Amino acid sequence: MQGRRKDTVTNTTAEALPHMIYFSTSKSSTPVSMKRATLEGLAPDGGLYVPSAIPSFTRQEIKQLEGATFSDVGFAIAKKFVDGEIPPLELQEIVSECCNFPTPLVQLDPATFVLELFHGPTLAFKDYGARFLARMTGWFAAEDNRLITVLVATSGDTGSAVAYGFQGIPNTRVVLLYPSGKVSRLQEQQLTTAGGNVHALEVKGDFDDCQRLVKEAFVDPSMKERHTLTSANSINISRLIPQSFYYAWATLRLKEDHGLENPIFSVPSGNYGNLTAGVLAKKMGFPVGGFIAASNANDSVTRYLTDGRYEPRPTRRTLSTAMDVGNPSNFARLIHFYQGEHDAMARDITGTSVTDRETLETIRLVHSRFGYVMDPHTAVGYCALLRMRQDGVYRENPGVVLSTAHPSKFLEAIHEALQLEIEVPERLGCLLAKEKHSTMIKPDYRDLADFLNGLDH
Ligand SMILES: *Cc1c(COP(=O)(O)O)cnc(C)c1O
Repeated sequence: MQGRRKDTVTNTTAEALPHMIYFSTSKSSTPVSMKRATLEGLAPDGGLYVPSAIPSFTRQEIKQLEGATFSDVGFAIAKKFVDGEIPPLELQEIVSECCNFPTPLVQLDPATFVLELFHGPTLAFKDYGARFLARMTGWFAAEDNRLITVLVATSGDTGSAVAYGFQGIPNTRVVLLYPSGKVSRLQEQQLTTAGGNVHALEVKGDFDDCQRLVKEAFVDPSMKERHTLTSANSINISRLIPQSFYYAWATLRLKEDHGLENPIFSVPSGNYGNLTAGVLAKKMGFPVGGFIAASNANDSVTRYLTDGRYEPRPTRRTLSTAMDVGNPSNFARLIHFYQGEHDAMARDITGTSVTDRETLETIRLVHSRFGYVMDPHTAVGYCALLRMRQDGVYRENPGVVLSTAHPSKFLEAIHEALQLEIEVPERLGCLLAKEKHSTMIKPDYRDLADFLNGLDH
């Protein structure tokens, strides 16, 4: 058990103890290194890993980042979280490969911007998290000379970012389970065309079957003997950290290119990972004026922000499907970062919920006013920002709406709002033309076990 010793905080021998350790929000398991936190995903006590302290940037350090590239900014942040566990040059390479596409800040009017997070391979912001996690996992696996199998049940978006994030990463392979006939054609293409080390299993059942099969694999001792399994799920700390890069980047771009400071970020939210990453950036010292938590009808957190009561509810289906989450997984982290103080959280974050009708109206409004096409998720964010300004909140601050997906991923909603065919970016067109590779299995654990055991070692 080589990794063990390093991970124990009570070990006082200075040798390989990393500067930053991670503990669980549930507080009943041992603090671990970044390596363990990344490979485990969820802490053994069921909590989410958080850093023992949020690293901070001095004003001087932030000033030094002026003129830096996106990947320099990302590296400066990543270094503070991964301190001592990955040599700087290698970490720099991980960050630069993770973020090898543009992150434009598009201006709509003098005080309103859209931060486009959809220029990665699957056209949604989840690419940042999945690509960083994939490279971190690959690096830690190579360090131990292991092959890590990432096992994921997906109903669409997370799985596609994971498939393309891990594509071609040495020492890793991915097995995705998705419900046959229950994902969109575009999602299915994204899940089944990465090839190489990425395998897609089409399950004759629903998403719950997929999740059940994955859970069974994780508790099957004979599986544990043969494979090193990990889950790459959305609560992994290595998915959160890279999402703070673009908040920092946006504050720098606003200041340098537009002379504007203290932006309000409007964040279209589902599991609240994206917003939590923004809070990290603010707490690290980047000059953020505040946040708007923009939800659809799934408003457990936005209601909490208003009245201090957290009552998760069953998920409701909306046009902004990736935000249809009744009980958001990252809420525990948000609470942690504000030490459970509702008032402190409410000072930084204002919540509001947007209906489907308002979403469609916003897509129309933005298109007619600016000639800009927004996807439904981004439109929720923009609508929330407009509402806040109408209510007189955050009037003085520039507003940045996080654009979480490219509109061509949601052609039906765009068509419903605008009666307009929009251009599909080339990388998406290419993807649609690729040949689908998947293996059909029954919703039976033996089918999954046979498939896994049939893979090369
Ligand atoms: C996942 C997703 C969201 C929600 O992000 P969270 O981090 O879960 O809050 C919003 N928009 C799109 C397009 C997404 O894929």
